[in-house]
Amino acid sequence: MNYTQTIIEKMKEKYPYQPFFLQALQEILGSLKPEIERNKIYEENAILERLVVPERSIAFRVPWVNDNGKIEVNMGYRIEFNSTLGPYKGGLRFHPSVNEDIIKFLGFEQILKNSLTTLAMGGGKGGSDFDPKGKSDNEVMRFCQSFMNELYRHIGERTDVPAGDIGVGAREIGYLFGQYKRLTNVFDGVLTGKGLKWGGSLVRKEATGYGSVYFAKAMLESKGEGLEGKIACVSGSGNVAIYTIEKLYSLGAKPVSASDSKGMIYDSEGVDLALLKELKEVQRVSLSEYIKYRPNTKYTKVQDYAKGRNEVWSIPCDLAFPSATQNELNALDAKTLLDNGCMCVSEGANMPCTLEATELFLQAKICYAPAKASNAGGVATSGLEMSQNASMSSWSFAEVDEKLQKIMKGIYESASEVAKEFGEEHNLVLGANIAGFRKVAMAMIEQGVV
Ligand code: NDP
Repeated sequence: MNYTQTIIEKMKEKYPYQPFFLQALQEILGSLKPEIERNKIYEENAILERLVVPERSIAFRVPWVNDNGKIEVNMGYRIEFNSTLGPYKGGLRFHPSVNEDIIKFLGFEQILKNSLTTLAMGGGKGGSDFDPKGKSDNEVMRFCQSFMNELYRHIGERTDVPAGDIGVGAREIGYLFGQYKRLTNVFDGVLTGKGLKWGGSLVRKEATGYGSVYFAKAMLESKGEGLEGKIACVSGSGNVAIYTIEKLYSLGAKPVSASDSKGMIYDSEGVDLALLKELKEVQRVSLSEYIKYRPNTKYTKVQDYAKGRNEVWSIPCDLAFPSATQNELNALDAKTLLDNGCMCVSEGANMPCTLEATELFLQAKICYAPAKASNAGGVATSGLEMSQNASMSSWSFAEVDEKLQKIMKGIYESASEVAKEFGEEHNLVLGANIAGFRKVAMAMIEQGVV
């Protein structure tokens, strides 16, 4: 058995109860194989054995008191996966599905994603099984304060810099930051995604969605195509989906769908962005409300989201932007999209496509971007927020947006250059994984056995 396969098998044996981590491992290590077989230095330095084990993994109890005076207990996690290239960096996810497996898969992905941005950031991820949905602001605040009562010991501007992810937006980052400051008596850039009045960066809120569209643009341009006039299907209706829709409009495409955990909308005239923002960012209500204001829209309730059936992908479209959650686009969805002539898939969410769906897109040789390349705009802009905090400066919207566009183009170019080097021009999964891996692996070798 070759080196990469041996490591995959060992992990499967050791962690049979971590399917998401194993899926990410298979996708990443599987595509690193040609690079690793070519260069024995990785095996001689036990790079894979070290890469797949987090440097530190923290799990903790988060007790808090709800509005009825009842004590509730959630789990908190922070996985500090790899600090070879810089302080651990990666978001916090608050969602009932969160467990060690989910955080581990996200943290592992983050190592290579952060490497691709070319900024000095290691990989980490964290979160809790706390569900902010349906909780009052006071409950969310008490939970965040309790979460930080443990987390503050492990993080720092030069150690580990968390950000947002599913269920963690500006409100949660605010409460987390306030408690960190109270506990440490330090005002520094320990979190990103901060409010604009207190150290946040312009464009951070928009960055992941905008970046995913910039990446799609770069892929399409390589084939002599553009976004203008294209029909786009977007899933999700959170931070990533909303700003994907916004950028699609500004570059001339027509986004026609959005979804949440309860259902999806198909608005053939184009999604009403202002209404979507009002419902999801301000009122925080279900997407079913959308049809009250746009009666010509088709609303479909989710049949069985857990089994990965997402009706969004049955809408005929040119472009697809899965931007909700992991494994939301399966082989059947991929086949439907391809049959309907979809020419470009840019992953906004982390690991939204199953391994089988990914394989179908690669076989069809359409423009297909893996999350670690196409959604890296969020963490890249977090990196820009860290730079601004460190130099006590703040850049204009146009300046940050320009840097973001350059970074996304750079990621596309490095992934596609490596893909070409291996004679698989269309395969950006291979290109992105190898490009991100080379930098981390060589730096690990230079830093010795640590
Ligand atoms: P939000 O919490 O803002 O939105 C998440 C959206 O996905 C909501 O519409 C939510 O529906 C839906 N959703 C979440 N979990 C599930 C589920 N298990 N089943 C069905 N629907 C679900 O999160 P973000 O937009 O920030 O994140 C979306 C994806 O993008 C995630 O994979 C995240 O890891 C990834 N990402 C985010 C970055 C960022 O900067 N925010 C950076 C890089 C990646 P509902 O409203 O009903 O809960």
